[in-house]
Amino acid sequence: MLERKYLFPHVIELNYQARRRLGVNVYLIDGGSEWLLIDIGYLDHVEEIIDLIRAMDFSLSKCKMLIATHADADHVQGIGRAREMLRTKIAAHPESVEALATGDGELTFARIKAQGIDLPMPRCKVDIKLKDGEIIKVGELKLQVWHTPGHTQGQLSFKLGNLLFCGDNIYKDSCVGVIDAHHGSNIPAFLRSLQRILEDDSEYLLPSHGPVFRRDNRIIQAAIDRLTKYQYMADFGTCAIGWPLLDEWERDVVEGRMPDFTK
Ligand SMILES: [Zn+2]
Repeated sequence: MLERKYLFPHVIELNYQARRRLGVNVYLIDGGSEWLLIDIGYLDHVEEIIDLIRAMDFSLSKCKMLIATHADADHVQGIGRAREMLRTKIAAHPESVEALATGDGELTFARIKAQGIDLPMPRCKVDIKLKDGEIIKVGELKLQVWHTPGHTQGQLSFKLGNLLFCGDNIYKDSCVGVIDAHHGSNIPAFLRSLQRILEDDSEYLLPSHGPVFRRDNRIIQAAIDRLTKYQYMADFGTCAIGWPLLDEWERDVVEGRMPDFTK
């Protein structure tokens, strides 16, 4: 049997466990009599991940569900395959169901035509729809569901005691999940999600990419400050809610003021 490397009591992360970069962070929540997975990653790694789980002596038939934090290909390309191999149920937020069920290339980021990215995105049925405030029981544990839209409409986070699985909301370097109009990103919603994370009492943040880290509110606040500015910057196109420069310019144009180069 392969030694289980717990990050925290009841929590294993498969990249740390494998001692190599598989891709997205894959969290195994060990409830004792049963377990579940948060995300699975690319199709190419599904078998390796399931082999690891088996080698750690988890019974595959005790997998309660596989949760998609959201429907991005790097998180869930392998979810349909894993559903078959584990004979488990797939859980996601209702806003992720369409992307998962249709395998839509644009919504899942499987296809970014202008960059030559075109990955297969197998369709997957969603068996359980998770809503904010719900409690998922896994053995002796209770996982609280948070709906944290912003990066994408269906983004979920989960609270387990003093741990917050924060998805693509915030990473250790204060970066956040990509903001892209085609993906359903919404900056005001993102800010509300970050504010909720900021005000929470969780002690450790377990993101979907990169290192797990201890809460430092400066990391979250820096992201809030940046995104607050993004709302008024042309850089973010239709994800911005306004562009003050253009409003000012329009007033000048309408009132017949010519540019004043002395200012
Ligand atoms: Zn991601």
